[in-house]
Amino acid sequence: NLYNEVQDLKGNIRVYCRVRPFLRGQSEKQTTIQYIGENGELAVQNPSKPVKDTPRLFKFNKVFAPAATQEEVFLDTQPLIRSVLDGYNVCIFAYGQTGSGKTYTMTGPNAASIVDWGVNYRALNDLFNISQNRRSSISYEICVQMVEIYNEQVRDLLRNDNLHKRYPFNMCSSFSLHSLCTMFFIVSFDLHTLGIWNTAQPNGLAVPDASMYPVKSTEDVLELMNIGLNNRAVGATALNERSSRSHSILTIHVRGTELETDGVLRGCLHLVDLAGSERVDRSEATGNRLREAQHINKSLSALGDVIYALAQKSPHVPYRNSKLTQVLQSSLGGQAKTLMFVQLNPDVQSYSETVSTLKFAERVS
Ligand code: ADP
Ligand code: MG
Repeated sequence: NLYNEVQDLKGNIRVYCRVRPFLRGQSEKQTTIQYIGENGELAVQNPSKPVKDTPRLFKFNKVFAPAATQEEVFLDTQPLIRSVLDGYNVCIFAYGQTGSGKTYTMTGPNAASIVDWGVNYRALNDLFNISQNRRSSISYEICVQMVEIYNEQVRDLLRNDNLHKRYPFNMCSSFSLHSLCTMFFIVSFDLHTLGIWNTAQPNGLAVPDASMYPVKSTEDVLELMNIGLNNRAVGATALNERSSRSHSILTIHVRGTELETDGVLRGCLHLVDLAGSERVDRSEATGNRLREAQHINKSLSALGDVIYALAQKSPHVPYRNSKLTQVLQSSLGGQAKTLMFVQLNPDVQSYSETVSTLKFAERVS
């Protein structure tokens, strides 16, 4: 077997690799991607020294070439997403260095253009359509939370000081998103730090104090996502591209009530745009930048450790080592299903980060 098995559908963990295309101005000749196979094989090589460097081979559940469309990527993710309506918990991550296409895969470059929509919008849209049109024996409610984890602190990205309320599930119904959007421009956002609850809570919420809003239509989703992204961007300007140094988590809670029996099922989908995985040169980073880097490093390795333990079927899974793994605990392990997008930038300058990204993915096999 030539290829290192990165993932082998072991348990409920799968790993997809996505190589982003070259952007305008980057020369195609400098690609580090030597081969992409039909069955998830990937070979990378440093083209600037092809004689010395033998190709490194990896195997995923699937590899998306640069030409893959958002639609294609979504179609391979859809069954996992739909299982939320059957009561499964699902976690989908994008992992990779800054600029490798994590946000492109999860959110897309532009909400206004439907063909560009990433997994987040498509997932929510798909969940409405299915829940409203195809499953008449079950009535579904869908609610959304969006938080960010920055320096090991959890912050509410949908918080609005004037309208902020906690919506328990049975209240998830009448809320005017329009008024929320109007208010957005006139309130100042103070992103309070939130606590994480033990996930044995009856309502299943890991971050119960994060704002939770019902969504009933595509318009609702677009407006809410916009608030979350703007809110994240508010921090970004102030803190210099913070979005690449925080994890953002969009959580979709689904509650279905069986009309005949009144039985209730719950499922939850976490869609996670992780902080950039690039290593920071310790000799150069100081102060805040160093602190951020240490927190990111710690939480990404904690995530790696959890997935590793799950893949090994280890009796002890170290969830408690980071806020990220605590928030996601109920959707990692047990019956939950996990998908990681390993994002690669094919440029030669990114080669060493590409290799370390691939090693991270390999370790969780
Ligand atoms: P990250 O979130 O990992 O920092 P981005 O998603 O912001 O990376 O992507 C970096 C740049 O590459 C953006 O300009 C984005 O639009 C572009 N990009 C990423 N993936 C693709 C893709 N599959 N097709 C076209 N452009 C892409
Ligand atoms: Mg990003």
